[in-house]
Amino acid sequence: MTTPSRDDFFEEDQLFSETCGALGGVVDIGAIKAGDELAPLVTGMLRGLGEDPSREGLLKTPRRVEAAMRYLTKGYSEDLSEIVNGALFDSSNEDIVLVKDIDIFSLCEHHLLPFYGKAHIAYIPSGKVIGISKLPRIADMFARRLQIQENLTQQIADALDKVLAPRGVAVVVEAAHMCMVMRGVQKVGAMTVTRALTGLFKTDSRLRRELSSMLGKPTA
Ligand SMILES: [Zn+2]
Repeated sequence: MTTPSRDDFFEEDQLFSETCGALGGVVDIGAIKAGDELAPLVTGMLRGLGEDPSREGLLKTPRRVEAAMRYLTKGYSEDLSEIVNGALFDSSNEDIVLVKDIDIFSLCEHHLLPFYGKAHIAYIPSGKVIGISKLPRIADMFARRLQIQENLTQQIADALDKVLAPRGVAVVVEAAHMCMVMRGVQKVGAMTVTRALTGLFKTDSRLRRELSSMLGKPTA
């Protein structure tokens, strides 16, 4: 397997438009809307892959894939204020609050393949703290959508900034991407690290060093 070149990506684009053309007469792709059944589309995909969707092992696959995809993207139907649900508490703490090693499972929006790893979420309170169990739930809400890791990281930081108005937020996400591991460059073990900072974490390098030592790694 070689590293994908610009030409490979061009061919993918070309393939995409040709495929849409061929399917146009069979399925009205443009008429499909949120909540519509996905299983028939999976059946079509199996046929397109050269499989026989009526063979025993694949009979229930379209339904299973639909259920799995609904679960893996359930963050679309979740809402930040419902998750937080008023769990904000007065506190005089003015130092770093960190919840680290939060498992995240997401799907890359370019290949619909999983990426997964850990999120570390830190903030500096400004009179209020948030129930700590809410931080993994906020991370999960954004992870259970089609994502790129850069945006996922920023969205978690922005959400915490919005609900808590703290003096600063730092989010670090470390993840392995199956689209890199299983295809293309095939780099098993390569981790992508992304970071989003707001407020004091952006302006104060001393705080960032403090966070690094709390995380036990030089990623922050
Ligand atoms: Zn990807």
